[in-house]
Amino acid sequence: MTTNWQPLKTELAIWRSDGLQLPLWWRDDDAIAPSSQLDRLATLASSTGVPVHLAIIPDATTQALADLLNDGPVFLPVVHGFAHKNHAPGGMKKSEFDASRPREKLRADICTGLARMRTLFGARLTPTFVPPWNRFASEHLSELTRAGYRAISTFNPRSNRFATGALEQINTHIDPIDWHGSRSLHAPEFLIDHTVALLKNRRLGKQDNSEPLGLLTHHLVHDPAIWDFAAGFIETLLTGPAHVWTAAELKWGTPE
Ligand SMILES: [Zn+2]
Repeated sequence: MTTNWQPLKTELAIWRSDGLQLPLWWRDDDAIAPSSQLDRLATLASSTGVPVHLAIIPDATTQALADLLNDGPVFLPVVHGFAHKNHAPGGMKKSEFDASRPREKLRADICTGLARMRTLFGARLTPTFVPPWNRFASEHLSELTRAGYRAISTFNPRSNRFATGALEQINTHIDPIDWHGSRSLHAPEFLIDHTVALLKNRRLGKQDNSEPLGLLTHHLVHDPAIWDFAAGFIETLLTGPAHVWTAAELKWGTPE
C-alpha cells in the first residue's frame, strides 16, 4: 500500500511560502530494556537525524538499557511514571498518578523513580515527566516542580504553556496506533488529515505553534505498517519547515 502524503506536503508548502517554522519532536514510550525493536528505533532515529525521547519506566528498567543509551546520542531518556501501574478506581480511565491517591504516595513514587533514573542515566536524563496513559492529577502537579522537573508531556495540543508554575507542557499530538481497534496502524489518510488539521490550526493562530509538534510511538508493539508510517511521517515533515526540538535544552529546577 502506498501512502498518499500529498495533503501534508501541500500544507507544508503553505508554511514555507508564509515563512513559518515548525518545532518537531519525537517521544517513544514504555522502554525497559534493550530489544530488537529498540535497535530498529535507533536505526530510524539515526537515518532521519531526529533523536528519540525514550520514556523509560523507572521501576522496571535495567542497567543494560543504561549501558545501551550511554553508547550513542540517538536517545534522550525521560521518566515514564514510576511502575506504570494503574491506581484509578474501577471503571475510571487508567492513571498511575490519580487524584484518588494520597499526595504522599504520589510524591514517594515521583522521588523514588527519579532517584533510580538518575542513578542509571545520570546527566543524560532530561527534566521531563511522562505520566503513563498521559494522565496526571492536576491538583498534584506541583509535586513535579517540587522534585525539579521542568516539563510534563501528555497528549493533545496544550491550552496553556505552563501546567503549573514553571512546569511547561510539551505534549505529543500524533499517535499512529489504533489502540481501541486493530492495534495496528490507523488509516494513513486519517493520520495525515489529523496532522494537516493540527498544522492548519497552528498556522491560523488557533493553537500554540511554539509548542513542539510531537510524534508519539511505542516501539515494542510496532508492526511493519507502523514502522513505515513513522519513517514516512518524519521524512515528509523534515522536507517542510520543521526543525528538531529536544528536551536537552531544559535545565533541572531546584528541588524543594
Ligand atoms: Zn506507557
